[in-house]
Amino acid sequence: MKVSLSLGYSLTKYLLKNKLFSKKRFPLVLMLEITHACNLACEGCGRIREYKETMREMLSTEECLRSVDECPAPVVTVTGGEPLMHPEIDKIIEGIVAKKRHVYMCTNGILLKDTLKKLRPSKYFNINVHIDGLAKTHDAIAGKGVFERATQAIREAKRAGFKVCTNTTIFKNTSEAEIEELFSFLEGLGVDGMLVSPGFSFEHNKNEIFLCRHEVQERFGFIYSISGRYKVLNSPLYLKFLKGERHLKCTPWGNPTRNYLGWKSPCYLITDTHYKTFAECMNCTDWAKYQEGRDPRCKDCMMHCGFEPSVVLGGGKRLSDIIEMAKWSFR
Ligand code: SF4
Ligand code: SF4
Repeated sequence: MKVSLSLGYSLTKYLLKNKLFSKKRFPLVLMLEITHACNLACEGCGRIREYKETMREMLSTEECLRSVDECPAPVVTVTGGEPLMHPEIDKIIEGIVAKKRHVYMCTNGILLKDTLKKLRPSKYFNINVHIDGLAKTHDAIAGKGVFERATQAIREAKRAGFKVCTNTTIFKNTSEAEIEELFSFLEGLGVDGMLVSPGFSFEHNKNEIFLCRHEVQERFGFIYSISGRYKVLNSPLYLKFLKGERHLKCTPWGNPTRNYLGWKSPCYLITDTHYKTFAECMNCTDWAKYQEGRDPRCKDCMMHCGFEPSVVLGGGKRLSDIIEMAKWSFR
């Protein structure tokens, strides 16, 4: 199944509760950036550039758990920087799992093999390893030998009984043949699912590795066409949006981001300010401005942080969409 029974149950319960109380805006995934420190310097990484002044700072375990209490999202993505550089990563994960939230811990995989002994498999815990292509492509972006270390760590994690998925950003030079070869290779490693997202930056003119809109549509049209044969975790409706077949409005509050500076507003991708509390962020951000795409930085954005929540919160209103989503969930 694409969505585990326990995640499906938590998500359905949460959505029904919010519907019952007629809540207009509520978060689905908390992006918890516990540190921006990283042991790599990947090409195109916005985080290590935007937060270079505070890169060495870390959220304490208490701050992380308080943030999870503030933001009721059923899913928490623990990310960075490289979250495994946090000395208390095990305590942070255990604390969130104890609150019965579903954790996706994003990592570049370099420190994963050594950290596994501090972590415990759980139905609430998923390891998400960043792999941007086969060895040559991934190493060109992340550094020499990174592919080998990350894929070795995936093997170890699977052997130790963890749930492991991968996250691949598709850049300009990622060919269709490589995408399919990569999916096949990753499934051979035993991964439980694969996420893909378009390499996008609102400053993309400054960096030629990012895709423009028609390239996103082309590449994701191909991914949609093969998604039935592989464990692609992105919803089919989001893939249809990426291939230009559906219109979706952004849901910028769907994936709120918390980091050392506070609650990032308006979204994971762009920063106008940081608020002290989650409530302040929800109440003070001019959501309509971003949802309607009135900010020029939103113009070509198709990022999952803004548009996957739109799918969960009602993108699939046609019967054919509902059937396709149901088939996808149980595949
Ligand atoms: S591993 Fe992630 S946070 Fe670190 S440099 Fe690469 S993209 Fe940025
Ligand atoms: S469209 Fe993109 S950049 Fe704009 S608010 Fe939504 S996710 Fe952020």
